[in-house]
Amino acid sequence: MTRFTPHLPFDDDKLHEECGVFGIIGNDSASAHAALGLHALQHRGQEAAGIVSFNGGQFHVQRGLGLVADTFGDPNVIAQLKGHAAIGHNRYATTGETVLRNVQPIFVETVMGGLALAHNGNLTNAHVLRRELVRKGALFQSTLDTEVIVHLVATSTYETLPERLIDALKQVTGAYSLIALTDSALIGVRDPMGVRPLVLGDLQGSPVLASETCAFDILGADFVRDIEPGEMVVAGEAGIESLRPFTPAPERFCVFEYIYFARPDSMVEERNVYDVRKNMGRELARESGVSADIVVPVPDSGVPAALGYAEEAGLPFDLGIIRNHYVGRTFIEPTDHIRHLGVKLKHNANRGQVAGKRVILIDDSIVRGTTSTKIVSMMREAGATEVHMRIASPPNTHSCFYGVDTPSREELLAARMSVDEMATFIGVDSLAFLSVDGLYRAAGQTGGRFSNAPQYCDACLTGDYPIPLVDREGGHDANQLSLLNYHE
Ligand code: SF4
Repeated sequence: MTRFTPHLPFDDDKLHEECGVFGIIGNDSASAHAALGLHALQHRGQEAAGIVSFNGGQFHVQRGLGLVADTFGDPNVIAQLKGHAAIGHNRYATTGETVLRNVQPIFVETVMGGLALAHNGNLTNAHVLRRELVRKGALFQSTLDTEVIVHLVATSTYETLPERLIDALKQVTGAYSLIALTDSALIGVRDPMGVRPLVLGDLQGSPVLASETCAFDILGADFVRDIEPGEMVVAGEAGIESLRPFTPAPERFCVFEYIYFARPDSMVEERNVYDVRKNMGRELARESGVSADIVVPVPDSGVPAALGYAEEAGLPFDLGIIRNHYVGRTFIEPTDHIRHLGVKLKHNANRGQVAGKRVILIDDSIVRGTTSTKIVSMMREAGATEVHMRIASPPNTHSCFYGVDTPSREELLAARMSVDEMATFIGVDSLAFLSVDGLYRAAGQTGGRFSNAPQYCDACLTGDYPIPLVDREGGHDANQLSLLNYHE
């Protein structure tokens, strides 16, 4: 019997964000709030979770595999995480075993005192740096690229931990939204291009940091602002200090946060994710309308775009597919025959709504195309007379190396096939994707991709990688968790 992993056939065939981060200081219930914050960020990582707290004299560490509630649902565990400050991390594993030594936050004792780190993103020169550090005698405890930062901090010659962290981050390339906890401060920092999100909030005077604002809503905390690209904030007894230690770079926020990763109720980069997704549906209807009877979302992620599409096209919106929310990662892999049913465990056609109708199916993206194929055939079996598929993002043609789990390029359907070939493969009467300019318009760039700043990172849709892929160019596999296979 095997527990499900995201790559088994019941997977929803999506790209997956690899991590969510949270931090709070100056609050007597810091670890309880961290657990709640991580729970709200559960969509960003479901394989493991961890919290490190500090009570003024001692750091407390607790990490576990599984969902946040599996480890932190127990009040006794929270009670042991004493202190007025805490940081937390949710992790999504891509390959290999999720072993506890690879679960964050990382905690180390340095000559400057304790340091805990929680990282969302991926360093693109981690292999190169790690090899150099190992050569100098560094002993690595995990296979995380984040541990490279820890060693760079430990060997820095600067006097304070924030200065050492800056020194370390100046040596790395890649995408990072990082939360650190020392014995005197909570630190949040975003890479110079701001690829991954990080927001600042306030809970009755206690500074809070999180990947997304939905983590503030669950606590009743106020959203203050986005941490800006290249900004470091240090929250301690003296209040919140904002530093700009890095060479400025053009902003390149991950556009896939809007397409799929972020929760629709979050505000990221000053935009409500739900609104942007609805706009994507409207743009899609303008660009590639088709004669049909109803608009049906592939739930749940296709819902906002389908609402926007239906509104713009003047067509009824109907739930022609019902999703079973109780197919979780705890489902035990059944026999081959049952596994063959695949997606039906998760989605079922609502026959009463689709029979005898021409259906426009709306989804946010197509990765390998496996789920789309099954859903289309389900629509036809339920009596749909025509099935037209509209995708609320451009074709996903390239892998991500900035902290998102993507299949290799060869596995991406759009990297192998033209749109017409994909339509035949999936079995639809017609298929169309949102254009890159349409995506930018939906995200507020009225003139399209190159019209005005900020531009987004859209490398998985265009192949335009804004941050150098140092490890990859040096012949290394460049994904964060591929370091699991690292051998010096
Ligand atoms: Fe986001 Fe795609 Fe860029 Fe990765 S490559 S950061 S998923 S836009």
